[in-house]
Amino acid sequence: MPIKNRFAELLPEITAWRRDLHENPEILYETHRTSGIVAEKLRAFGCDDVAEGLGRTGVVGVIRGRSTASGKVIGLRADMDALPIHEQTGRDYASKTPGAMHACGHDGHTAMLLGAAKYLAETRNFNGTVVVIFQPAEEGGGGGREMCADGLMERFGIQEVYGMHNWPGIPLGQFAIRPGAFFASTDQFEITVEGRGGHAAKPHETVDSTLVASHIVLALQSIASRNADPTEQMVVSVTSFETSSKAFNVIAQRVQMKGTVRTMSPELRKLGQERLTAIAETTARAYGAEAKVNYIKGYPVMINHPDETEFAAEVAREISGDCAEAPLVMGGEDFAYMLEERPGAYILVGNGDTASVHHPEYDFSDEAIPAGCSWWAGVVERRMPAA
Ligand SMILES: [Zn+2]
Ligand SMILES: [Zn+2]
Repeated sequence: MPIKNRFAELLPEITAWRRDLHENPEILYETHRTSGIVAEKLRAFGCDDVAEGLGRTGVVGVIRGRSTASGKVIGLRADMDALPIHEQTGRDYASKTPGAMHACGHDGHTAMLLGAAKYLAETRNFNGTVVVIFQPAEEGGGGGREMCADGLMERFGIQEVYGMHNWPGIPLGQFAIRPGAFFASTDQFEITVEGRGGHAAKPHETVDSTLVASHIVLALQSIASRNADPTEQMVVSVTSFETSSKAFNVIAQRVQMKGTVRTMSPELRKLGQERLTAIAETTARAYGAEAKVNYIKGYPVMINHPDETEFAAEVAREISGDCAEAPLVMGGEDFAYMLEERPGAYILVGNGDTASVHHPEYDFSDEAIPAGCSWWAGVVERRMPAA
């Protein structure tokens, strides 16, 4: 099964959907127009059921095979949201909304899964049920988590779930995947150091919050270098440091810091939170100041299940002859929540030699559509073969 001919035929139509979505980007949960189009198309394709409003603006379509005797139910997931970036591609279908653009290719993901849904509803050449999942707010908003919280898996009886992301740097038509931890946990923290402000010429009468916070910044670097197993991956970054004084002669009463902790294992994630809190609090205390830590949990580590990963790679190899081993990604991915609830796998499809995702000159490559759609169809037809 290389590229399916039907997707070569559908390419102009799917490309037109993709470019329309590109022109009309919507951020986080505000995917009202996009969700409306998705639901309307799923109904027009003849889906057996279309549900709206899961995870606020998520959409789900159900397609039953010619037979459903196998009792199998597979979920296929795409994301729909754009980013708060001002587009600089110069394309004739560039974003019409200033300050918003599809800079991560979720327009392409939505269009490809719609293309696959159209094909699957036409052919129904499988024994089981497909649930196509379109989620909002992948970019930091936890739309996948919210759809799961709304009972996505239970309501539709999903047993396995698959996801796909385009990837600049991987050749067009090629795929890459890896089993186990794939995308990082992405937690955030805020540390407030409270000292005693005063005259810069009389430091002995103050507790210098700037000095204390500086010691904390340095000490936090010992978490990844001294506490974490060096064969594992961990990032601790302080990204914001603001003192309450803007004057050259005032020692600041307070310093506020922000940053992120990223890991590739749930154990290391837990260790990161514990060490960060202990270091901030005790370092401040050693200097007579006080530190308050607000640790905000983001996406969990996204972990591909081994059997489903091998299966996903097999389908990719049938399409393109090969499936590369993907690198670890220290970015986060909301699909992690779905893989916590059900076995499944997440694969990368090549976007060719383009600007990286989240760059104002990035654009999804429409040439990736036939391979991406063929992979979706292959997952369904191989996992739930018709009799
Ligand atoms: Zn992104
Ligand atoms: Zn993305």
